[in-house]
Amino acid sequence: MALIVQKYGGTSVGDIDRIRNVANRAAQTRREGNDVVVVVSAMSGETDRLIRLAQQAHETPDLREYDSLISTGEQVSAALLAITLQSMGVPARSFLGPQIRIFTDSAFSVARIQNVETKHLRRAIKAGIIPVVTGFQGVDKGGNITTLGRGGSDTTGVAVAAALKADVCEIYTDVDGVYTTDPNICPDARKLSRISYDEMMEMASLGAKVLQIRSVEFAKKFNVPIHVRSSFNDKNGTWVVKEDEKMEKVMVSGVTLNKNEARVTIAGVPDRPGIASKIFSPISDAHIVVDMIIQNSSADGLTDLTFTVPKVDLKRALKLVKKTAEEIKAKEVLTEENIVKVSIVGAGMVSHSGVASKMFTALSRENINILMISTSEIKISCVVEAKYGELAARVLHQAFNLEKGS
Ligand code: ASP
Ligand code: MG
Repeated sequence: MALIVQKYGGTSVGDIDRIRNVANRAAQTRREGNDVVVVVSAMSGETDRLIRLAQQAHETPDLREYDSLISTGEQVSAALLAITLQSMGVPARSFLGPQIRIFTDSAFSVARIQNVETKHLRRAIKAGIIPVVTGFQGVDKGGNITTLGRGGSDTTGVAVAAALKADVCEIYTDVDGVYTTDPNICPDARKLSRISYDEMMEMASLGAKVLQIRSVEFAKKFNVPIHVRSSFNDKNGTWVVKEDEKMEKVMVSGVTLNKNEARVTIAGVPDRPGIASKIFSPISDAHIVVDMIIQNSSADGLTDLTFTVPKVDLKRALKLVKKTAEEIKAKEVLTEENIVKVSIVGAGMVSHSGVASKMFTALSRENINILMISTSEIKISCVVEAKYGELAARVLHQAFNLEKGS
């Protein structure tokens, strides 16, 4: 007998038929002798709808009220699932974040979970009741409702699993698991049977959208095994787990393509101590995440500085950068939105040499020009022109033998 936390995403609870399917699955898991706790997202499209309403009411809504509003989608799906379970004769009860006491900080719309109380959940489980928990929402010390950022129900699922010391957190979605790359770009993409927390975190931060990155951080910290799988079939999905020392580390596990970044170049920057700090401090103060940074070696005491920011933040970043550029008397500021970042991820890179050169060679064979490069222990990213992005992903997928059957 195991304790299983099952988190169902928006498409899995998208209508009453699908909610019935979820109820059957939870009931079946319990019939097999396990304790079950369910965490749900809002019905698909609902959170978007609520966000649009908020924006119609006010261009920049107060974030406390915004969270009160956009957290309601989960209340609907949790209650509907509890009602459906009851209609099948299975005792169930819905719980909101504040009812369980999922405590978060007060960073409305991007709150972080600090503590999950387990008293109510344990009491329900003991009484033979399936608790159905709202994902995505929590409560701060002042009693205000908070939300965890888009996709945050994954993090609720893992946090609840960690607090209850569950055996597994199953994340149910509309795909069969985590793939070596986006199957829409590369039809040969293969489902991974397992992937390490670190690899999954890289994949998530590089744009693979199956899991909210914070949920993986949480899982790693508390060593919660995650099983990503489809709610529409019974296939084994992808296990996200601690790296197993005994297993041979694959060199490259996956390829990602991120189309959401833009490039900013500040040309003719005086090469003096303190300049980088002057440029990047205002950007980080504005909570804009800078990704790749390249500084050329200087000629005549002047250098060029190039970096990437999310496209959605480009306007704000540009305003700040232009102001700094004027102050430090840089020559000019240029931007480019027609770029993408293609990356390879693999825990085995640490111990293999020649991975980067293999990547560069594969790209050059297709005449794809590399505009920027960055590396970490388990990732290499190249920025290329947007029109080559999908080709680059396919070429790398092939170069590292990630296809089905290989
Ligand atoms: N309903 C929220 C969203 O759409 C949270 C989630 O689905 O994980 O972002
Ligand atoms: Mg999701």
